[in-house]
Amino acid sequence: MDLMENQVWTLAEQWEGKLKPISYELLAWGRNLADKLNAPLVSVVMGNGIPRETLETLVHYGADEVYCVQHPRLSHFTCESYARVLERLIQTRRPTILLGGATTTGRTLLPYLAVKVGTGLTADCTALDIEPGTGNLLQTRPAIGGNIMATIKTPNHRPQMATVRPRSKKPLCPDPTRKGRIETIEAPEEWMDNRVQFLELQALDEDGNSLESADIVVSGGKGLKKAENFSLIRGLAEELGAAIGASREAVERGWISYPHQVGLSGKTISPKLYIAVGISGSIQHLAGIKSSETILAVNSDPGAPIFQVANFGIVGDLFQVIPRIRDRLREYRMRKQQEGTHGCEE
Ligand SMILES: Cc1cc2nc3c(=O)[nH]c(=O)nc-3n(C[C@H](O)[C@H](O)[C@H](O)COP(=O)(O)OP(=O)(O)OC[C@H]3O[C@@H](n4cnc5c(N)ncnc54)[C@H](O)[C@@H]3O)c2cc1C
Repeated sequence: MDLMENQVWTLAEQWEGKLKPISYELLAWGRNLADKLNAPLVSVVMGNGIPRETLETLVHYGADEVYCVQHPRLSHFTCESYARVLERLIQTRRPTILLGGATTTGRTLLPYLAVKVGTGLTADCTALDIEPGTGNLLQTRPAIGGNIMATIKTPNHRPQMATVRPRSKKPLCPDPTRKGRIETIEAPEEWMDNRVQFLELQALDEDGNSLESADIVVSGGKGLKKAENFSLIRGLAEELGAAIGASREAVERGWISYPHQVGLSGKTISPKLYIAVGISGSIQHLAGIKSSETILAVNSDPGAPIFQVANFGIVGDLFQVIPRIRDRLREYRMRKQQEGTHGCEE
């Protein structure tokens, strides 16, 4: 088989020349798969004016090769242009696997691309492996409301495409001595033909958008009593690297904006850890959190319905409990920093 046809590709995401964390996580998955297939691992990145050091970083984190496609109109993500670039690259280089992030970009781009290139896509995978014997990609993801884990194959079409849930794997520790081939591809004008034009970027006032992909969510409810007390939720979320959620009562009181609302008329989330603070656990709130892996509730009322679904419950006054948890976490983080642990995987 032509070596190029056996490549494993990961789609790196960058913003203004800086790589997003998912780019490193995908390389860790890709490295594992490429080693099992004895195949080269390629990281594909699109943008404009991406600095050489950024591309070298991809090699340090595990890529054997980097394809960097540059054009002024790739500066910002637009589905049609990005898909056309990948479609042309796939047609000429025929990778066996293409992994993207289950991020806004990946979830928008890869389904569109899969249709264009006539292959399947497994969305939102939490584990990937290679099937012994066939070399097929085993794509594992939660199914039926998270009650089972399904393993899906794409035996008859190439590339085998999957989006991978953020933070499902730690990046490899970077090796600055690692060498790889970097190929810069100037995208021809005709690839940029696009019905959607980028006009401007408007940042949201608050980042409620990260809720659905967050591993940890800390939510506050009416038990917080007033808007200023939401700072307790923010402080705890910051220590945990968590996204911030809220009950509808908190949103309707104007303590936090609607994009943060969790529940029937808000967002449905499935983090690894959900922390409900001063939230009673109404049926409408629970509808948005029932597929969370672990629920921790802090509530002063031992009869609050949230305790019926919580894996861990703290019956107590949140104004005492939350600062104590936050301070313990801070101590732990400082200790780890002093020990020089950086959270990457050898
Ligand atoms: C059609 C429909 C859709 C809805 N959609 C949603 C939705 O998407 N999301 C949602 O959340 N709700 C939704 N609701 C509203 C829902 O019914 C509840 O009203 C809401 O979830 C209650 O919010 P809460 O838990 O913050 O407030 P409460 O139910 O008032 O609970 C506050 C809790 O704080 C505790 N508490 C008070 N003081 C303290 C303290 N000092 N320390 C610790 N605990 C304390 C109390 O014991 C209580 O359990 C919807 C309702 C309808 C009808």
